[in-house]
Amino acid sequence: MPPSFTYEFKTGMYQGTTSFPTGVYIDGEWRDGANGTTIDVINPTTGKLITKVAEATAADVDTAVKAAQKALDTTWGLNASGAQRAELLQKLARLMEENVDELCALEALDNGKTFWWAKAVDVDFSIQTMKYYAGWADKITGQTIETDEKKLIYTRHEPIGVVGQIIPWNFPLLMFAWKIAPALATGNTIVIKPSEFTPLTALRMVGLIEAAGFPKGVVNVLIGYGPTVGQAISEHMDIQKVGFTGSTLVGRKVMAAAAASNLKSVTLELGGKSPNIIFDDADLDQAVSWASHGIYWNGGQACCAGSRIFVQAGIYDKFLAAFTERTKNIKVGDPFAPGIEQGPQVSQVQYDRIMGYIESGKAAGATVHTGGERHGTEGFFIQPTIFTDVTPEMKIVREEIFGPVAVLIKFTDEADVIRQANDTVYGLAAAVFSQNINRALETAHKLQAGTAWVNCVNQLHPNAPFGGYKQSGIGRECGEYALHNYTNVKAVHVNLGHRM
Ligand code: NAD
Repeated sequence: MPPSFTYEFKTGMYQGTTSFPTGVYIDGEWRDGANGTTIDVINPTTGKLITKVAEATAADVDTAVKAAQKALDTTWGLNASGAQRAELLQKLARLMEENVDELCALEALDNGKTFWWAKAVDVDFSIQTMKYYAGWADKITGQTIETDEKKLIYTRHEPIGVVGQIIPWNFPLLMFAWKIAPALATGNTIVIKPSEFTPLTALRMVGLIEAAGFPKGVVNVLIGYGPTVGQAISEHMDIQKVGFTGSTLVGRKVMAAAAASNLKSVTLELGGKSPNIIFDDADLDQAVSWASHGIYWNGGQACCAGSRIFVQAGIYDKFLAAFTERTKNIKVGDPFAPGIEQGPQVSQVQYDRIMGYIESGKAAGATVHTGGERHGTEGFFIQPTIFTDVTPEMKIVREEIFGPVAVLIKFTDEADVIRQANDTVYGLAAAVFSQNINRALETAHKLQAGTAWVNCVNQLHPNAPFGGYKQSGIGRECGEYALHNYTNVKAVHVNLGHRM
């Protein structure tokens, strides 16, 4: 009998009960994992157990792939029209709207992000993503190719087939939506592995996917560990494509496994160490607010977090004073309490990792300008932290910390700051603050990043592509660009009278 989860949210911004199965979901059925084992789900606010979910294994991946292939051959893929796929995605969006607060509460419970940020961004953006790709589902068309020969050539954008998807814990529902929506719109069937740290919203979504009417086997959800289920997806011979979001380290393993198996196509959305450049002529107040949002939003657990803040010498002291004031005033605490801006880090592992970086910064001679300590006595809370007196070779400047830790770097010369900003293996996002539009745009164009923000940060949109240069990834999510991840292009040549 597969496990299930019932929970009553009693305090804070949401009161209500949630209840759903937490098994392995294959071919429209809840099951135990092949080994009959479970995974503990921990509440990051308290460090205590929330529930146990069924652990999937490589054998379950194999069963799920067979179910997904059967659905592709019978009810989905070329067997479902674009209009049918659009209708189901629209229905799913509506069901998410009807359950929006419950989804936000689950996200806050499981990940530790604040309920109101989950509502303002994660869940709303996930719903918009479903709607956006519903709009595309009946507009997946090829081209006719003109030649001067007697033939008609046209292209078809066909589903790739059974696709594997592996996602992280920092935006559990949003990453789920970014992955499944374009894959479903284009007619693929899915075997998806959410993070073992944050499985709850994906498992809750299964009920909504069923209620929307997706045929069984189209979406299969397997909670399991990376080296078992993630690896099995990456190397499965009957999975034709893998979409991965996570760390650069693991992205390399996924690509290696794909290369060593069936050369499945791979898209990778990986880590970042995004620069945020603040020129002397920036609107100081706005630059401080945005820079704070850039690094501390979601507890710094954002791939595009503006973790390296470059401030021009003429404005540096004023910026540091205002930014410090703003940082000290960030309200850290229970993600369900009103007014809280930062919840706990997701797990003990992440807590230890971030504190390790803070120690490494101190040991390397950087100054903890504010923060740097645990917040409170239970759970995985860390004070918003600013480092000054940093040098380019320090680990805290070079590596993705993935926590509420900013490094501030003073600069004088425009060309030099662009060189420093680009001096990283990453290239996910970058921001520039200036009231001189020419300077701002020139800088934005010179920064090696898949997304550049001018006088703002962390702005994403379902309609706009998002992805990395350099080691931040391969391919783009969101927008029309993500459709290419999930379609094969076939050129059809029709003879119109050319005789041999
Ligand atoms: P992670 O790489 O540790 O794990 C990501 C996923 O991969 C998880 O589901 C995990 O179980 C799985 N995994 C682990 N080992 C695996 C293996 N050997 N084979 C296959 N799968 C495996 O990352 P995380 O800690 O969950 O998330 C944080 C990282 O994700 C950060 O680096 C962040 O920048 C990145 N991220 C990137 C984007 C983006 O769009 N570029 C968005 C969100 C997060």
